[in-house]
Amino acid sequence: MEKVKAKKQFGQNFLKDTTVLDKIIQSMPNNSNYVVEIGPGLGDLTKNIVKYKEMTAYEVDTDLIGILESKFAIEIESKKLKLIHTDVLEAWDRQKSLHDGKYDLIANLPYYIATNIILRAFEDDNCENIIVMVQKEVALKFTAKVKDKEFSSLGIISELISLESRILFDVPPESFDPAPKVMSSILYIRKDMNKSIDKDFNKFLKACFVQPRKKLSKNLSSILSKEFISSLYQELEISDNIRPHEVSSSLYSQMYTKVRDGRN
Ligand code: SAM
Repeated sequence: MEKVKAKKQFGQNFLKDTTVLDKIIQSMPNNSNYVVEIGPGLGDLTKNIVKYKEMTAYEVDTDLIGILESKFAIEIESKKLKLIHTDVLEAWDRQKSLHDGKYDLIANLPYYIATNIILRAFEDDNCENIIVMVQKEVALKFTAKVKDKEFSSLGIISELISLESRILFDVPPESFDPAPKVMSSILYIRKDMNKSIDKDFNKFLKACFVQPRKKLSKNLSSILSKEFISSLYQELEISDNIRPHEVSSSLYSQMYTKVRDGRN
């Protein structure tokens, strides 16, 4: 391995376990989609993906860009790999999508912005499949179902935007260099390309879960009048005592539509 000191501020934990790398490659959907990787690092995952797919990799760290350019000179020259030196969140601010055609996101994500990246991938209309390494706790939130204790805005949005979402397998800290402090998981989400999420829906959910163990009606009272809440509950047959994690994704969606339209 190159003598590169991992930078904590960029969430650098390089995946060194070849069995895990093989398992990620085997999990890639059998389709003709382009691939986008975020944070290629030293290129261990990139090297495996580019054997099968044309791809773009976004990397923020200048030191790593130099290494990747020489390591993948042939693939870059033959246009199998496009390397972009940028902060991926800034790239998403500049352009609506990370690629101008349908793509799958395959990455060992920097954990400090993993949730944000997945939410941006939900908003990116060209992104179809998401196969990403994240902290296990984050993967559990995105795959949580109603009444699970982890069920929150992330599980709701994920359920509403996807055809399928599940944890493929867990990855222990020893598989990385340096080893992270937490357990990791490979999260798989297949988006429903006919759906999109209204930006304000996210804000509405944040208000619903502001105090996750309190009654939902209590949380709602910070954004809605008592009368509105009471007629909303009546119309949608919601029980007064219900807690935020006990309401299904589709019911949240119906509630939001009524709140947005100001009807009750
Ligand atoms: N893919 C490599 C692997 O599996 O060994 C590295 C994964 S490491 C967990 C995360 C990578 O994301 C690092 O290379 C880091 O420099 C990069 N990164 C961190 N923040 C980023 C950002 N905002 N935009 C693009 N890349 C970023």
